[in-house]
Amino acid sequence: MKEQSPAAAHMTLATVRGWVRDAGRIALLSGAGMSAESGVPTFRDAQTGLWARFRPEELATEDAFRANPATVWDWYAMRRDMVAKVAPNAGHAAVAAFQQRHPNRLTVITQNVDGLHQRAGSPGVLALHGSLLEDKWLDAPRPCCLSQPPLEGRPPRCAVCGNLRRPAVVWFGEMLPVDVLAAAEAAARACDLMLVVGTSGVVYPAAGLARSAAATARMVVVNPDASDLDDAAHAVLRGTAAALLPQLLQEDT
Ligand code: NAD
Repeated sequence: MKEQSPAAAHMTLATVRGWVRDAGRIALLSGAGMSAESGVPTFRDAQTGLWARFRPEELATEDAFRANPATVWDWYAMRRDMVAKVAPNAGHAAVAAFQQRHPNRLTVITQNVDGLHQRAGSPGVLALHGSLLEDKWLDAPRPCCLSQPPLEGRPPRCAVCGNLRRPAVVWFGEMLPVDVLAAAEAAARACDLMLVVGTSGVVYPAAGLARSAAATARMVVVNPDASDLDDAAHAVLRGTAAALLPQLLQEDT
């Protein structure tokens, strides 16, 4: 953990609200903490129940899926079911409401795969790490894969060649979708203010977007705990997404 700079520590909510009011273009980079108050565990939270003996980093890789497809499929199925049962929180709602009041002024860039920004009504969300709610072919689909629905199973598979369906998320060690990353980099370059909400700042290239934005724009960390991005921030607001975002983005800003 890094110490936040003394200057950043003295910035208040009122100051940052002024920055929101003055910013022509805002980018909001969110991480797992954005959805914590909806009941979606972050990766830093302990895994529970049957999954307690696995680390997410050992499940969220192509090698893990190829070695144990049923185990990894079941873990994602559990997470997909969990996300289906929860709702966007006041933070997601405040972001979406701001975007509806100020079209094209705020771009959401998220590391989350839970679809909660989209369900709250945020338009044009740049989902850097894909979606938990969708799946795709593990290997490049052959004509047989596309000619009939996959066979049900854990995971589903092509009846002819055995190609597997996999979650449409970006696993550790995989490239981010090129077009989404390019759009996120453009939003980070164009913004006057970047709000970095609920991310530990250890996963790259996502964390790099906040570091590069800090060179040309104001960068504000919103997190109840210390993060790796605090040292680069112009302000650090210690609090949760659902508590602080409505205050930062409320009507009169
Ligand atoms: P992380 O688990 O590394 O860090 C979460 C951060 O959120 C921590 O810094 C924590 O202090 C902060 N936090 C906790 N509660 C908060 C709250 N109520 N409000 C604001 N901040 C809060 O998450 P990460 O940085 O996003 O990186 C982990 C990776 O895991 C990402 O690649 C992401 O795709 C994936 N992931 C996604 C989800 C999801 O889609 N909801 C959940 C878990 C992990």
